[in-house]
Amino acid sequence: MRAVGVVPTKRQVEMIAHPAPNIGSPQHVRIRTLEVGICGTDREICTFAYGTPPDDSDYLVLGHEALGEVVEVGAGVKNLRPGDLVVPTVRRPCPHDHCPSCREARQDFCFTGDFTERGIKMRHGYMTEFFVEDEEHLNRVPPDLRDIAVLVEPLTVAEKALTQVWQVQQRLPWNGVPDSIKGRGQGKTAVVLGAGPIGILGAMALLVNGFKTFVYSRSPAPNPKAEIVEAIGAKYISSQKVPVEHFAEQVGNIDLVYEGLGAANISFELMEYLGLNGAFVFTGIPAHKPAIPIKGDTLMRHIVLKNQVIIGTVNADRAAFQSAIRDLALFKQRWPEAIRNVITGRFTMESYQELLLGKATGIKNVISLG
Ligand code: BGC
Repeated sequence: MRAVGVVPTKRQVEMIAHPAPNIGSPQHVRIRTLEVGICGTDREICTFAYGTPPDDSDYLVLGHEALGEVVEVGAGVKNLRPGDLVVPTVRRPCPHDHCPSCREARQDFCFTGDFTERGIKMRHGYMTEFFVEDEEHLNRVPPDLRDIAVLVEPLTVAEKALTQVWQVQQRLPWNGVPDSIKGRGQGKTAVVLGAGPIGILGAMALLVNGFKTFVYSRSPAPNPKAEIVEAIGAKYISSQKVPVEHFAEQVGNIDLVYEGLGAANISFELMEYLGLNGAFVFTGIPAHKPAIPIKGDTLMRHIVLKNQVIIGTVNADRAAFQSAIRDLALFKQRWPEAIRNVITGRFTMESYQELLLGKATGIKNVISLG
């Protein structure tokens, strides 16, 4: 019973309006949020260019790049226990029986478009002190990755992309030996477009797979992004200093382009220089803008005459999360300083406004709650 005559504090009123989520099924896990990464998608949602709140809500809780600590598990939870660190996946399946992907837990390839995404599409996200999730959507992270595990979700983009590149390139005798110590990209050249978190993490993934890697990004070096790129053994080239044509000359035959820029103009310009049997992977989601001219006939001619493949990829399955966790451990071993430097700022929740609506700064900015 509530005491009569006691005026609740503002915080108590908020807690009543938004009670901390509780375990509601045996498969549920209650998690204390430790960190949430901010990305371009969050910033777009804040300009109403993207994102949808849940049906019964007139707001959307943001946050889809999260690291949390398990605080409580339901009776049916098998592999997690309080104290474990976890990274949740983002997408949840559509309800339709005729969607083979969702029925096989491959909602990253949903056929109907009726999937939901935490913090993005019709489901609240992780930018809260606690959240509840089914065990099947959680990935355990080793404690020694605590300082960088918020990067798992953005790294899944490259992991899923590479899985598809290996699958597609099975069509030809790419000489990479699967799982060889040197990596399947050995002897191949990759270009990463953009040196934001997606680009830098993508470059790291390409390097551990043996690719000779170039990163093509706007700002002239020296700058913090270029420093990380050079520190990990890739070559940084500024698009402000070197036009696409000259950049392509420097690189030589391009076997793979990994686009992490979210801009069409440079991407389609570079596509003209994709090499024989090459693959071009798009990961960025540009906002709608006025149409731009592209060299349609030249590109089509090349795509056919050079056996090229253009892949678009979005979201990630559980396997991509698992390989991201494994690769992050590898990055930490190989480049302890560089991987830490990808996280350029840790902020409290109070900084939400400047992080989401202010000028984009740094590389990966994170809200720390724990
Ligand atoms: C997220 C993905 C999501 C995509 C489209 C990205 O920012 O990382 O999980 O599928 O946005 O909503």
